[in-house]
Amino acid sequence: MGCLWVVATPIGHRDDISARAIETLRNVALIAAEDTRHSRPLMLQHNVSTPLVALHEHNEREAVAAIVRRLEQGESVALISDAGTPLISDPGFRLVRAAREAGIRCIPVPGACAAITALSVAGLPSDRFVFEGFLPPKSAARRSRLEELASDPRTLIFYESSHRIAESLADMRDVFGAEREAVLARELTKMFETVIGEPLSQLAARVVEDPNQQRGECVVLVAGRGDDTDAKLAEGRRVFAILREELP
Ligand code: SAM
Repeated sequence: MGCLWVVATPIGHRDDISARAIETLRNVALIAAEDTRHSRPLMLQHNVSTPLVALHEHNEREAVAAIVRRLEQGESVALISDAGTPLISDPGFRLVRAAREAGIRCIPVPGACAAITALSVAGLPSDRFVFEGFLPPKSAARRSRLEELASDPRTLIFYESSHRIAESLADMRDVFGAEREAVLARELTKMFETVIGEPLSQLAARVVEDPNQQRGECVVLVAGRGDDTDAKLAEGRRVFAILREELP
């Protein structure tokens, strides 16, 4: 039996790939890639000449059967996606499941993942968090998903496409409240990397006003619902400031 190596690739900066990942990609018999054209430059950069086959959501059923057969015949295979860690909002779940069911060893070669990369610089509580991936594209479904999450005390992590970021932040503001702290992490590890943290009302307004904030790849992180103590303290400070201005 061969092994299935699940290999993370960069999410932006081309050097964010481990020496072990490169070694693995060179040594396996076959690389299953989400988009072979997309992965070729990375393979060229690291002198990987291993043959690539496509494994994406449209051919997954047939591709999984063929790859598992090759693994059973003793060949080792690496699974990669276009960026970051396979299976994380990317194809691969069916392959890993089928391989494990066939008794094939699946070996992780960890590396970049946009959700964890964003969390590492967001400055939001990181002891407990929940990864929600992509929200539904239509507003009604998106709001009802957000409502399910509104009282979760853990930091919430979302992937969002740049053309929906303004709408999604507006829905988050309406459902979670204007004051809830949030972070927009854009273009991580790339030239225009930006990480902005502010209350949802400000963040939603900023993204509408500045079209640059609607470009590139985005992760949105939202603080979990705190106990009411913080909100009450903030409200007390706000009222005190107003009174101080007004009082003689
Ligand atoms: N498998 C990838 C991972 O490990 O993060 C995620 C793939 S998913 C199809 C692509 C989404 O991940 C993007 O729409 C964006 O939300 C997020 N993403 C990927 N690269 C990013 C980056 N460099 N900066 C910010 N977000 C990124």
